[in-house]
Amino acid sequence: MKALGPIPAGFAAIDGVLAVGGKPVTQWAAQAGDTPLFLYEADRVRRRVAELRAAMPKRLALHYAVKANPFPPLLALMDGLVDGFDIASGGELEIVRGAGIDLAAVSFAGPGKRDREMEAAIRAGVTLNVESEAEARRAIRIGESLCLTPRLAIRVNPDFDLKGSGMKMGGGAKPFGVDAARVPELVREILASGADWQGFHIFAGSQALDAEAIAETQGQTLDLAARLALQSGAVPPRCNLGGGLGIPYFPGDTPVDLTLVGARLAERFERLPEVLQGTAFCIELGRYLVGESGIYIARVIDRKESHGEVFLVTDGGLHHQLAASGNFGTVVRRNYPSAIATRFGADVEEEASIVGCLCTPLDKLADKGGFPRADVGDLIAVFCAGAYGASASPANFLGQGPALEMLV
Ligand SMILES: *Cc1c(COP(=O)(O)O)cnc(C)c1O
Repeated sequence: MKALGPIPAGFAAIDGVLAVGGKPVTQWAAQAGDTPLFLYEADRVRRRVAELRAAMPKRLALHYAVKANPFPPLLALMDGLVDGFDIASGGELEIVRGAGIDLAAVSFAGPGKRDREMEAAIRAGVTLNVESEAEARRAIRIGESLCLTPRLAIRVNPDFDLKGSGMKMGGGAKPFGVDAARVPELVREILASGADWQGFHIFAGSQALDAEAIAETQGQTLDLAARLALQSGAVPPRCNLGGGLGIPYFPGDTPVDLTLVGARLAERFERLPEVLQGTAFCIELGRYLVGESGIYIARVIDRKESHGEVFLVTDGGLHHQLAASGNFGTVVRRNYPSAIATRFGADVEEEASIVGCLCTPLDKLADKGGFPRADVGDLIAVFCAGAYGASASPANFLGQGPALEMLV
């Protein structure tokens, strides 16, 4: 048997069925009318934001990285909970606009911004986190042609990375941001152009669980921001310290010690260098805010045995949950937390693999896990499905189409 990842705390059963948002998932599936189905639990998101606010210094604003989950009802919920939104494409700009979000609180990072995307952002008053000198110059030109003042921050490619992070986004040669050494000159160029200078965006990595490493990176980020400010001779109005906080997905993973991260950042804020004393700071988080709120539900369509192994074949699969199948940025396939939702909490009775309905051996949601015996009609649940699930999976592969989604 292979271990399954840890199920986030606080999930319970009602009459033996996994409950989400106070109701058994069978009821949500009946209400939705079909499976597969993503359920996002609003209360879990609210609690997560409250925990963060309680642990972090008051001075730190909280932004939501839309790419983790752009489901419009979830964005509407987030709108009442966070201080700003970070987007990474013109498509996400239209999504946040559609959700009624104040676009003055939105920043737009990401390499390869097209002119029309930058034009839409400048018209909307969105801050562009420019990823290169050439992009900064294009933004300035577009602003001039529109007779609008673009709001520009510089995404910095830091000269360090976040240790232990699942995805390194800084340090060394990267397509993201402007190398730190070249930033001061670009700051001066932006100031000289008359653009509305917004400061720095410094993102060193994501999906880290080690609080010490996160705190160390935040310290390095503040040091770098101070150094760049001094070298450019300009106070940054804002500084986005990036994200990095991860969630446990795999056997042995443990949650981030938020108290430690908050305390260390508070200490740093107390002795900020002069040049950053007027700067407004934020962090941008996706996965940490919404990942554990999401549960992916699929129905067992067939139960079969092959060479002595049990396969629970579901109507879901990697086309909705690419990450759980191990095909989204992981080297070694390990099991996400999963369960038989209609026998939640029952004793383990057998070893089984939960597979999807796609005709590829990659389509595996749980490999040789220990489960209560499940049969055709049972529902399975994959946990930690709230981030990089529905929107980061190839829904059209094999003509399957997207899953249903509900905020509950
Ligand atoms: C993806 C991304 C995030 C969000 O990362 P999470 O791991 O979901 O918190 C934040 N900022 C930038 C620049 C990103 O590219």
